[in-house]
Amino acid sequence: MHTTAAVEVAGLVKRYGRKTAVDGLDLTVAQGSITAVLGPNGAGKTTTVETCEGYRRPDAGTVRVLGLDPLAQAAELRPRIGVMLQNGGVYPGVRAMEMLRHTARLHRHPLDVDKLAERLGLGGCGRTPYRRLSGGQQRRLALAMAVVGRPELVFLDEPTAGLDPQARRATWELVSALRADGVTVVLTTHHMEEAEELADRVAIVDAGRVVAEGSPRELCRGRAENTLSFVGPPGLDLESLLQALPADCAVGEAAAGSYRVTGDVGPELLATVTSWCAQHGVLPERIAIERQTLEDVFLELTGKELRG
Ligand code: ATP
Repeated sequence: MHTTAAVEVAGLVKRYGRKTAVDGLDLTVAQGSITAVLGPNGAGKTTTVETCEGYRRPDAGTVRVLGLDPLAQAAELRPRIGVMLQNGGVYPGVRAMEMLRHTARLHRHPLDVDKLAERLGLGGCGRTPYRRLSGGQQRRLALAMAVVGRPELVFLDEPTAGLDPQARRATWELVSALRADGVTVVLTTHHMEEAEELADRVAIVDAGRVVAEGSPRELCRGRAENTLSFVGPPGLDLESLLQALPADCAVGEAAAGSYRVTGDVGPELLATVTSWCAQHGVLPERIAIERQTLEDVFLELTGKELRG
């Protein structure tokens, strides 16, 4: 059991002149987890992550990464973390594989560079200078550079921005594999599916603060929109159905024979409802499930749509 958090941010404030980019942000990232920081443009995600990486000095609050101060203890911290910046950080004339090999040599136990490049679909462009790589190839190279040193913790700033679906899938697989190896991952994203697919925890950031935090399922749970509806004979014994369901569920007969169950709608709830129906000789027809997505939760909390 790990007891210390991989990242602990408390009351972080960061201003650029008169603009407050981060405004009292709290965030805790458990070791070995994948945490997605979601937020609209300008919410303060990059500033927060860059402060954790030691690239920015907080105006107030504290930041601890692997128990260390990212500025005062940078020399100790840097070899233990992997960083994928939003924009490159690579010399434009350097060839892709040269850059990756160079980065690998800076680490004591790097991953196999060729296998990593292959995995991320960089095999074919190894001799291409960085500036001639496509945007997607540049992102994948930046990801490879972030993970090649087998870091304990990686920060990925919009790792799949501009990637085609295949490259995005390859990136997701790599991120999942990192978690399987016990690596902690903090990623910023505009993609809801990315957060839903990958993240154990999601922190929704708006105007420099975390406005909601939890697992994707927790964030969507218990909303009125999470319903399972079905049609059956009118007048079913709803008291009996309710007793079969978890405590936080509600059930009603909206119109004669038209039933709605609300609560944490998932596979277990569906199974419970259908098995109750089977026990009572009821064939539920037109079963429909409507779940609130993280996108809906986000919109509700921030009033904003995420960038595509
Ligand atoms: P995006 O999703 O668009 O990348 P973000 O959530 O990462 O946005 P930040 O990049 O952290 O947000 O920016 C937060 C706010 O701070 C924005 O209003 C931005 O314009 C401003 N900002 C960021 N960096 C600087 C800087 N170096 N100088 C001045 N203002 C800045």
